Amino acid sequence: MTEPEKSGAKRTEKRRDLSQVKIELGSGGVDSWKIEGMLPDSSLAELGAECKIKAPGLVDVVITKERGLWRVQGELEISVELPCSRCLAQYTSSLMTNVDRFFAVGQDPALSFGQTEMDTDVMFLEDGEFSVLRFAEEEYILILPMIPLCKEGCLGLCQCCGTDKNSKSCNCIQEEKPNPFAILGKMKID
Ligand SMILES: [Zn+2]
Ligand SMILES: [Zn+2]
Repeated sequence: MTEPEKSGAKRTEKRRDLSQVKIELGSGGVDSWKIEGMLPDSSLAELGAECKIKAPGLVDVVITKERGLWRVQGELEISVELPCSRCLAQYTSSLMTNVDRFFAVGQDPALSFGQTEMDTDVMFLEDGEFSVLRFAEEEYILILPMIPLCKEGCLGLCQCCGTDKNSKSCNCIQEEKPNPFAILGKMKID
């Protein structure tokens, strides 16, 4: 069994295109795979519908058999362009995630019995076929930020005149937002 590569390793090697790679889990007596390579942005159609992909997805995972399940561990990375939710500017963000997921071959028993002792989230692959593309794309979509921000503390746009307050200030008089906790100071506790 090989250990997963540590972060940052082997980034300069020529990368293998993984978009067509499918692994038959449990076939041929193999119980460990190392999957390292890239997914061209053109292959990531679902992700591409959510945002603009700036660089191919990087995949560096190992699959190992563990307690009758298949454990997928490693690192995924992708670079995407997103609109800042405050100032609306497009910015490029490199997203990285460490994955650790369990798969099982067969039908999800929860479909026929009440699921009992399973303490982890196991994904069932009915045909035992693990698609690198499908797996990685789902993970990439999961790590897209819900509220994208071009930078921490982005000042956003002025709500009156639309000026990007990151680059210049405007003369609009901003009403102070009422502090929702101010009223607490006025309360009298007997
Ligand atoms: Zn912004
Ligand atoms: Zn303004």
